Amino acid sequence: MKTIQTITLVVLSIFWLQSCTKDTKQKSSNTTGSQEKPAYVIAIHGGAGVMSRDKMTDSLQMAYTSKLQEALDTAKMILTNGGTALEAVERTIQVLEASPLFNAGRGAVFTHDGHNEMDASIMDGSNLNAGAVAGVGDIKSPIEAARYVMTNSDHVLLSGKGASDFARSQGLEIVDSSYFFTERRWQSLQNMLKDEKHGTVGCAVLDKYGNLAAGTSTGGMTNKRFNRIGDSPIIGAGTYANNATCAVSATGHGEFFIRYTVAHDISALMEYKGLSLQDAADEVINNKLVAAGGDGGIIAVDKDGNYALVFNTPGMFRAFAKSTGEEGIAIFK
Ligand code: ASP
Repeated sequence: MKTIQTITLVVLSIFWLQSCTKDTKQKSSNTTGSQEKPAYVIAIHGGAGVMSRDKMTDSLQMAYTSKLQEALDTAKMILTNGGTALEAVERTIQVLEASPLFNAGRGAVFTHDGHNEMDASIMDGSNLNAGAVAGVGDIKSPIEAARYVMTNSDHVLLSGKGASDFARSQGLEIVDSSYFFTERRWQSLQNMLKDEKHGTVGCAVLDKYGNLAAGTSTGGMTNKRFNRIGDSPIIGAGTYANNATCAVSATGHGEFFIRYTVAHDISALMEYKGLSLQDAADEVINNKLVAAGGDGGIIAVDKDGNYALVFNTPGMFRAFAKSTGEEGIAIFK
């Protein structure tokens, strides 16, 4: 009798554990109002202009999910081993830049003239230092170049040939433009697939030292002309981090994100109006931007260990993880 009771208890415990795991896996949006501040929190995006559900095959969905998982695991490993938010942001974005799936680094979209012009920025919330590159076509990892601009130059934003010269002088990897050629993006320029125009990547992290950092990397928008530069390398628009409030990375129609200084506006709503991260992000993305006609979204973490994954598009590639073990990956609403 005692044996039967024990077996029943074990089976019940397994079922309970399984249902808990499933819940945390599925929870992929909204701020968590945790009582205890977690040692770290990570939020990642891979762009808000995801293709429609009917075009997203199972295998493509799996490819995106496993790359996001790899990015998440990279950040988790760095943070668990005592690394900083800044390191985690840079390395995590590099994982996504190296993948042809996302519109950043290797998978960057093409300009109207058939080139790749990439933008990236990174910000350290502990001292408000920032670095960015814009319109670069031969730097293998634009986010790394952005970090070098921040730490090894007197400037915040370098563009075009000057940015490449700087990257070369720092010993960063310069590649032939063929590295950025992917058939899918080429076809996307040819067809101007409207629903596949955003795929920027970004990451925001809170580390155990209480420091926040954010970074964003992109190929910009398909078919862009005249050396157009979007929001991603603009501090306050596509990227912002401040230990007093939050760290934000944005993706979407850059012109709107610049005009509405989206990333900084979220921080300002928290700082000056005392809004929660979720409310601030909702106000900017789902009210202000929607009213203006700007599509896109943000991922963010705040100083207290909350995260927000907010978008006004049908989907956004996104992932989050906390040191408490909660994590999730999602694509559509
Ligand atoms: N925000 C980027 C830009 O406008 C595009 C994107 O997020 O996909 O350049």
